[in-house]
Amino acid sequence: MPAAVLEAPGRLVVREIPVWPIEEYGDPDIVLVEVAACGVCGSDFRYFAGENPWAQHTLGRFVPNPPNIVLGHEFAGTVVRVLHERNERLLGKRVAPVCSKVCGACADCRAGRSRLCPNTVHLGHGQGWGRRDFYPGAYARYAPAWGAGCYEISDDLPFEDAAMMDILAVCVHVCEVGAVQAGRPVLCIGAGPAGNGLAQVAQTMGADRAVLIERSPLAMDVARRQGIGTVLDARRPDLPEALRQLAPEGFGCVFDSVGTESTLDLGLTHLAKTGSLVLLAVHGNAPVPLDLMRLGAERRLVTSCNFEVGDYAKALAWLEAGKLRVSEWLTPVSLTDLPERFAEVMANPDAKSTLKMVVGR
Ligand SMILES: [Zn+2]
Ligand SMILES: [Zn+2]
Repeated sequence: MPAAVLEAPGRLVVREIPVWPIEEYGDPDIVLVEVAACGVCGSDFRYFAGENPWAQHTLGRFVPNPPNIVLGHEFAGTVVRVLHERNERLLGKRVAPVCSKVCGACADCRAGRSRLCPNTVHLGHGQGWGRRDFYPGAYARYAPAWGAGCYEISDDLPFEDAAMMDILAVCVHVCEVGAVQAGRPVLCIGAGPAGNGLAQVAQTMGADRAVLIERSPLAMDVARRQGIGTVLDARRPDLPEALRQLAPEGFGCVFDSVGTESTLDLGLTHLAKTGSLVLLAVHGNAPVPLDLMRLGAERRLVTSCNFEVGDYAKALAWLEAGKLRVSEWLTPVSLTDLPERFAEVMANPDAKSTLKMVVGR
């Protein structure tokens, strides 16, 4: 089957590889999914660059990536093979699979925070598969998934929209970590898919209003066309004043999906008493000075990582109900074109010509 293989940092190649040998993985819950759509995640560019965002967020340290990872973890498709009879109910079903499986036995799993399980097996990632010729991911015709994590989707939900479930579940978790409060406004620094999704989820949870700050004209345009919150150009000189007018008491939550010294400064400046600044971009590129006084009045600075099962179910219910809308985000790309699109983005990360690419059939 054709697959986009990250042979080494900076080297993404579309080539023929064997279909996944699902019997060899030692887990009878594994099923084979024919991939109909797979989102291109910001973290995929970080793997491409040689980072390991899963390990940085989940373990708090860098772990080297093995060669030959088939990237892609945000996908939807049809179940075509199962191993265990309890999964026969899934055969032929349209599903949005959870892209990882936790161990269920470690201290984190037992304490109900399985999103932090260090033994997670992860698609589109080298983690948890032992030594393999190719590490499973969904930039391919087929991908493995776990029967217990295969959520059926309705016939009305396009596969491309369902492929956004991973990021929507992440957004639900971020809003829970940030303790979105009804009646208080939220600020999204960055209006890419994460910031856009966070604004939608926060409003669904009852936030008073969402304000999005963004530099990219494309991302601003998408949020405005969707009618999501108030969209401000990050470069406007009167930005602090505009934010003070929109939220005189400050924002109950600030979601920082950029993670630089200046975004942290901006977020803390406009964070309300008892508010939470949730950092979505955890990287070690540059230490940031922090005056601890700015966390006075019970302001919290927290990170958020992955999601719990309940977050996924909640996000899917809201997506199916039309409370969350993602189709405006999407630009289809073919698997064959993927290496070229990666090269374009890496060469000029600020010149965004798409908000979210989705690899289709
Ligand atoms: Zn992702
Ligand atoms: Zn575990």
